[in-house]
Amino acid sequence: MNKIIVLIGAPGAGKGTQARLLEERRGIPQISTGDMFREMKTLDTPLAKEVQHIMASGMLVSDDVTFRIVQERTAREKGSYVLDGYPRTAVQASQLEALAKEQGKEIRAIEIDVPRDELFKRLTGRRSCPVCGELYNIYSRPPKNDGVCDLHPDAKLDHRADDNEESVKTRLDTYEANTAPLLKYYEGTGRLQKVDGTREIEQIYKEIEGSAA
Ligand code: AMP
Repeated sequence: MNKIIVLIGAPGAGKGTQARLLEERRGIPQISTGDMFREMKTLDTPLAKEVQHIMASGMLVSDDVTFRIVQERTAREKGSYVLDGYPRTAVQASQLEALAKEQGKEIRAIEIDVPRDELFKRLTGRRSCPVCGELYNIYSRPPKNDGVCDLHPDAKLDHRADDNEESVKTRLDTYEANTAPLLKYYEGTGRLQKVDGTREIEQIYKEIEGSAA
């Protein structure tokens, strides 16, 4: 049966990195609600403005708005796909159960576990190249020259608007309050695999790839 692979982890745990690897190496599409909301930024509609405001503060977009974009985006996927950043609340988890049933797919959840103080550094230090998307971290993987991409010296590195200290704190609190409880739910239904997200990217990938097969 085709699968919906749900990556659960706090912001900065590496869900996006792993989802991109699954897409590149296994051809399983990555569907990221965070990326879809960031793309809405360019639109000049009241909803886009509201989403932008909510994201910058580190809070969650409403369950119904989020479900609508997930439903629309996943409708064209005939095979398995990876959800990166969805579901994030109990309501979203139950909306996803209904969607999975409708699409005839089975849900597998994978937790990427990283301690909070490590996440704080990863997020506040995160920078990316606006040209090639290369990721840096001012603490653990700084660029050769401050603030610019190693591969594109003319490109000034981006710092996500919601990676400032205050928003990061809100995002981590929101994860603990709303999303972490979903782990019990998936565990209780025998669909959760837990991986240690503090190890090397390739080691983590090996474990995740096993479940995605
Ligand atoms: P991310 O890139 O996954 O960290 O998401 C960035 C921001 O997008 C979050 O802080 C939320 O404001 C919003 N967002 C992403 N996914 C969801 C979701 N499943 N439910 C509600 N808001 C979301």
